[in-house]
Amino acid sequence: MSEQPPGFRAYVGLGGNLGDVVASFQDALARLGAAPLSCVEGASRLYRTKPVDATGPDFLNAVVALQTSLGPRELLGVLQGIERAHDRERPYRNAPRTLDLDLLWFGGVVLDRPDLTLPHPRMHERAFVLAPLAELVGKLPAKPSNEGGNPVLPEASRIEAYSQNQGIERLNELKP
Ligand code: AMP
Repeated sequence: MSEQPPGFRAYVGLGGNLGDVVASFQDALARLGAAPLSCVEGASRLYRTKPVDATGPDFLNAVVALQTSLGPRELLGVLQGIERAHDRERPYRNAPRTLDLDLLWFGGVVLDRPDLTLPHPRMHERAFVLAPLAELVGKLPAKPSNEGGNPVLPEASRIEAYSQNQGIERLNELKP
């Protein structure tokens, strides 16, 4: 069995449709790995998606797993700092964006606050989140329930059907 550092597992969704999105994702991956008390455990492949409730060019999406001893709000602060470093602006809801980081799931924590809802409230509606998340959950060692367990996801065949309906294309690996 592989030895793992202490802490919770968090899944972070990455999305973007402006500028060099692959470079933004690689930079985000490096910054996540450099976050305090955290390390990157794995990353999904890249997925290409037509904008859903949004405008502009196609999106790229991916999901990254972290091991972290930060709290969920501290981690959200790290994600927002990385977005700011990429000049993310929010001129209007669902505007095109250079880099969007969502905290999808944090060690089984359930929270419903204006600043942070966990698991992420729109996670289950969006194939561009579910497909990379399911891929990554399947690649990583399962977490026992006393360490937060694992996200509960729809069956693989259902995620595949959503992905086809929503025209999601699986691309290459997200490499650091
Ligand atoms: P967005 O513009 O989609 O990036 O939304 C960012 C806002 O959603 C911020 O004000 C966050 O505090 C809030 N938020 C609530 N829950 C989450 C979450 N799980 N992940 C990221 N942002 C969240």
